[in-house]
Amino acid sequence: MNKDWVDKDYYKVLGVSNTAEQAEIKRAYRKLAQANHPDANPDDPSAESRFKDISEAYATLSHEDQRKEYDDVRRMVNSGTFGGFGGSAGPYGGGSQQRVRVEDLGDLLGGFGGLGDLLGGGTRRARAGPQRGADTQATLHMSFEDAIKGITTTIAVDGETTCHLCHGSGAEPGTKIDLCQSCGGSGTTAQNQGFFSFAQPCRQCQGTGRMVVQPCSNCRGRGTEVRTRKINVKIPPGVKDGSTIRLKGKGGPGSAGGPAGDLLVRTKVDNHRLFGKRGDHLTATIPITFTEAALGAEITVPTLDGSVRLKVPAGTTTGQTFRVRGKGVPKTKGKPGDLLVTVEVTVPKKLSREAKKLLEQYREEFETDDPRARLLT
Ligand SMILES: [Zn+2]
Ligand SMILES: [Zn+2]
Repeated sequence: MNKDWVDKDYYKVLGVSNTAEQAEIKRAYRKLAQANHPDANPDDPSAESRFKDISEAYATLSHEDQRKEYDDVRRMVNSGTFGGFGGSAGPYGGGSQQRVRVEDLGDLLGGFGGLGDLLGGGTRRARAGPQRGADTQATLHMSFEDAIKGITTTIAVDGETTCHLCHGSGAEPGTKIDLCQSCGGSGTTAQNQGFFSFAQPCRQCQGTGRMVVQPCSNCRGRGTEVRTRKINVKIPPGVKDGSTIRLKGKGGPGSAGGPAGDLLVRTKVDNHRLFGKRGDHLTATIPITFTEAALGAEITVPTLDGSVRLKVPAGTTTGQTFRVRGKGVPKTKGKPGDLLVTVEVTVPKKLSREAKKLLEQYREEFETDDPRARLLT
C-alpha cells in the first residue's frame, strides 16, 4: 500500500468538501490549474509542484470509481482498520495504483498544449492522438491550351469532409463542449492487469477528452459529412498529362482534431488537333507546297495565341524543322519555350493539263541528275 497516496488530502488540495459534486470539483480544478499552471508562473518554481498536486487530485476525484476507492482506503486508514488489509497481495497492493497515477499525471502534464488549452475549456489532445485524414484523389480534365497556359478552375470532389455547420467539433453551434466525465478530460483511462497498468483511450469520448453537450444537428456529432465540395485549383502553366498536383489539407477530414489529408489532383490533358508538346516546346507539322519548298516563301503559321509569319528558305525539304522563338510553353519564371514547326512538302494529287505540261518541260530541261544514282553504285 502506498501511504503517500492516502496521506494526501485531495479534497483539501482542490479546496472542496468531500461531498462535493463533480461539477464543483471540475470548477475548482480549472480555477486552480489556471492559476498555478507553470506557463502562467514562469518565475515561481513551486507552481509546478502545486500544479502537479492539483492535477493528481483531480485525476483521482474526477473518476467516480477511483474517487470511491480513494475514499474507502482513507476511511479504513483513518479508522485504523487498514492493518488487516496490507501486503502487496491486496487489491491495492504492488504499487500499481501509484503507477496508475504517475501515468495519469504524465498524461495530464504531457498532454497539455499550454495554458491556452486550459483556458479554452479543456479540449486537450488525447493519448490516442489526433489522426490525419486520408488522402483523396480527383481527376481534372483539361484542354491542351489550358494545360499549356495554366488555369484556375474549380473541381467538384465527392466524399467525407469536415461538417460545414460545426466545423468538425461535433457540437451544435453556440453550445458548449465539456470535459469528458469519464476520463476527466485526459482522454485516457487506466486499466490494471496484475502489477501493471495500462493507459488506454477513454471509451466514453474516444480519446478526445471532450463531451459534446448538444450534438450538431447536421452531422449528429460526428463532425464530418459526405457532400460535394467545390475546390479551387490553380494549375501552373505547362502541366503534363498524368501529373499529380497535391493540394494540402483538401483531402479527408482528420479525427480527434488531426489535420485533414491532401487532395491529389491528377491531370488528364486532351490532345490538340495541331500542336504537340516536347518539354517546354510546342511542335506542329505544317504543310507547304512543293513550289514554296523549292522557291522559298514566307508562310503564316498558327500559334496558341494568334499566328506568326515564318520564312521558309528556297530548297527546303520535307521534315525540316524551323524554330519560332518564344511561342512554346509560357513560364511563370524564365524564358518561354519555342514553337518547332516541321514542314511537310505536299504534292498535288491532280494536275491540270497545262500544269502537267509545264512540269514535264521543267523535267526535260532541269532534272538531268538521277537523285538515286549515288545509292545504286
Ligand atoms: Zn456538424
Ligand atoms: Zn473520456
